[in-house]
Amino acid sequence: MPERRVAPAPDSGQPAARVPDRRSPDRAADRTPSTEGVPRYQREGDTPLALARRVISSRWRAMRDRLSRDFMRRTLRIGVSARIFHPEPGSTGLRSKNLQYLEESIAQWVMSRDVLVFMIPTVNTNGLLHPSNITLRHYARHLDGLVLQGGADVSPQTYSETPTRPEWSGDRARDLYELELLHEFVDAGKPVLGICRGCQLINVAFGGTLYQDVETNVPEARAHVHSDYDAHRHEVVFPPGSSLGQMFPRVQRPVVNSIHHQAVKDLGRDITVEAMSDPDGIVEAIRYQRADFVMGLQWHPEFHRAGGVDLLDCTPILDEFLRAARETRF
Ligand code: MN
Repeated sequence: MPERRVAPAPDSGQPAARVPDRRSPDRAADRTPSTEGVPRYQREGDTPLALARRVISSRWRAMRDRLSRDFMRRTLRIGVSARIFHPEPGSTGLRSKNLQYLEESIAQWVMSRDVLVFMIPTVNTNGLLHPSNITLRHYARHLDGLVLQGGADVSPQTYSETPTRPEWSGDRARDLYELELLHEFVDAGKPVLGICRGCQLINVAFGGTLYQDVETNVPEARAHVHSDYDAHRHEVVFPPGSSLGQMFPRVQRPVVNSIHHQAVKDLGRDITVEAMSDPDGIVEAIRYQRADFVMGLQWHPEFHRAGGVDLLDCTPILDEFLRAARETRF
């Protein structure tokens, strides 16, 4: 390598580079001035080794700074489970199709903390028309956290009961899809936030059960669903030692909306209660203890801001979820 010989340092033990010989064709072309030719800005007595060491260490510093900056700023990718619209018999057009959709405010609530939101469609590895090797595990691998959307009832079949009324038979297909999603994300060590139906699904996933209809099963309970829809609200209490209690140390009487006719009955394995309706004690939030962050809220935090200042601002819960997502991301 000819450039190695360009500028031996005075103390390198090598003979000092010769004065450039302009008559020698092999040197004139590819050599910079040397000896006296060592640039004047170089430290006196510097060696190539010392210089190389400094160059490498400054490159390393720059790379490390860039990595840590990117790492801190990296945009999170949050998956949201799909709501499923099953085709209506006898209809035509869009209503005759399987639709998978997300409700605008859940996506916007999550995006309000500057993260990317992706709806995760159901997968069908045995599909006759469009076979694919993509499974929900791939989604769990590539996304940083999961939000389980609200929507249809959990099917009593999913917790080994039969529906006591046909209209309470729920959406078994969606249960199976979301149970798999939940297990893949928990397995991958990634956080899960369940909203309304999502809260009930988390309980059922770990062996818990639900009231098929709060009004029927717990007649003394206050109304948890009302014709006012998302304007209907009630107070909740956070049990002492709960993580919600720690997240909202100064909130005296938290108020949440209530748009559910099912509710958690028996708790699943390693599930603890995070909030209860006041005064009827209906479970309003749960947490799975054997994961970093797997939490279910019976209310809809994404509707709270539009509902006025009385409703609990749930941004601290979203932030806790996103912090857990950040920590599992490499
Ligand atoms: Mn409620």
